[in-house]
Amino acid sequence: MISQTVAGEVSFLAQVNEAFDEAAKIVDADRTLLDQVKVVNSVYRIAFPLVRDDGSIEVIEGWRAEHSHHKLPTKGGIRYSSNVNEDEVMALAALMTYKCAIVDVPFGGAKGGVKISRLNYTEGELERVTRRYTAELIAKNFIGPGNDVPAPDYGTGEQEMAWIADTYQAMNHGELNALACVTGKPLEQGGIRGRREATGRGVYFGLREACSFEDDMKELGLEPGIGGKTFVVQGLGNVGYHAAKFLLEDGAKLIGVAEREGAIASEDGIDLDALMEHRKRTGSLLDFPGASNLEHRMDALELECDILIPAALENQITEQNAPRIKARIVGEAANGPTTAGAHRILVQRGILVIPDAYLNAGGVTVSYFEWLKNLSHVRFGRLQKRFEEQAFGRLVDSLQNATGKRFTEKEQELIIKGPGELDLVVSGLEETMANAYENIRETTKRHEVDQRVAALAVGIQKVARTYESMGFFP
Ligand code: NAD
Repeated sequence: MISQTVAGEVSFLAQVNEAFDEAAKIVDADRTLLDQVKVVNSVYRIAFPLVRDDGSIEVIEGWRAEHSHHKLPTKGGIRYSSNVNEDEVMALAALMTYKCAIVDVPFGGAKGGVKISRLNYTEGELERVTRRYTAELIAKNFIGPGNDVPAPDYGTGEQEMAWIADTYQAMNHGELNALACVTGKPLEQGGIRGRREATGRGVYFGLREACSFEDDMKELGLEPGIGGKTFVVQGLGNVGYHAAKFLLEDGAKLIGVAEREGAIASEDGIDLDALMEHRKRTGSLLDFPGASNLEHRMDALELECDILIPAALENQITEQNAPRIKARIVGEAANGPTTAGAHRILVQRGILVIPDAYLNAGGVTVSYFEWLKNLSHVRFGRLQKRFEEQAFGRLVDSLQNATGKRFTEKEQELIIKGPGELDLVVSGLEETMANAYENIRETTKRHEVDQRVAALAVGIQKVARTYESMGFFP
């Protein structure tokens, strides 16, 4: 199964399994049960024809891996990438299981991949690929509200999710919960407010939580809090852009950015939205006014900064560049951006690595909220918002009458405002990320392990407990 190697290093799945074995040492569970927790339960490999716009036919390869069925449905994104392969999909599916468990999302892990670079296909071709891939998944029960629920990942977004939902509905006519077959959909098609930015927002909440502990920051030679911290982002896609946006809103300073075409840096700080506009206009982030172009796009990872956020692809921090990373915190927004060898080097060098399995779990957390919304067929907040506003209004009136004090308009607004869907999504995500971080941090202290080991151990422990409760193992 180990099909690819990265510059002399072991495959992605082998790395995930290696990390599993390390973490499992501090998990309290039957050792034979852990073999079941580790293994990828099912993998579906598909090949199907795409009729291209010019009439030629191309064979497209795809996969869907379901790592664990200890909870159903399974859940995980679908990526479109020319580098995707079976090993990678299986590794990412396994990470999804642990990720869901870490943030208490009651799903097993899955992942899908289609081996195409979306830049090489027209909109119509992408639609045909997506609909056919979905039809293949339906045929083998690898999609459905109760068995496997995909979401966006690298190279896919709301549009692909809308095609998937529509294909599923068309082929399962009358199924009441059909829209819950996929998450990350556009709002008009059963999506949820806050899903688009959820992973980036979760990355921000996770980093904010990590930076809130004075002792931990002192060990890194940093002040507590996000305000004033410098950071570098690799990849300005959905995750990288939103993580950067929320960090900037909280007072951090963006001093370096890497994209496919190159990288830029500026000690004075980079205006994110102006950069996005510049890239849209010129087709590149290079030559951005006030910033300097770096020689190679990978140089951005080695910039002097407080926080480095790899938010593009896996295997970006390797044994080659790890000794030169100068950040004090590496926030793994992408999946698997740091190889196992590189991770060892970073930890030895006293760098805090906040692991992907925790840090980018915001997407799946809000996907879970979207799935719940689809199953309940009602927008969060719809039933109680008006009622709560009226009740709080009456409370404010009574307080004012009893005390003779008048609240200002602004104070009244703050007290009275009932929660809308976005408010509930954001507070649910904030609570989830904060609780999970505390759990991981506590495990690092109790077992004297790094955060990757702790996060995985927390996840594995919960999956093992679920299996134990089924009575499979004495
Ligand atoms: P995306 O396609 O929106 O963005 C990826 C960005 O990385 C693109 O802008 C691309 O141009 C850039 N990029 C590609 N190669 C690069 C390189 N060599 N150097 C610098 N930049 C490069 O994808 P995304 O959804 O933001 O996902 C990014 C990562 O986050 C992936 O690892 C994905 O698995 C992970 N992730 C995504 C979500 C989600 O909700 N979208 C959730 C969890 C994890």
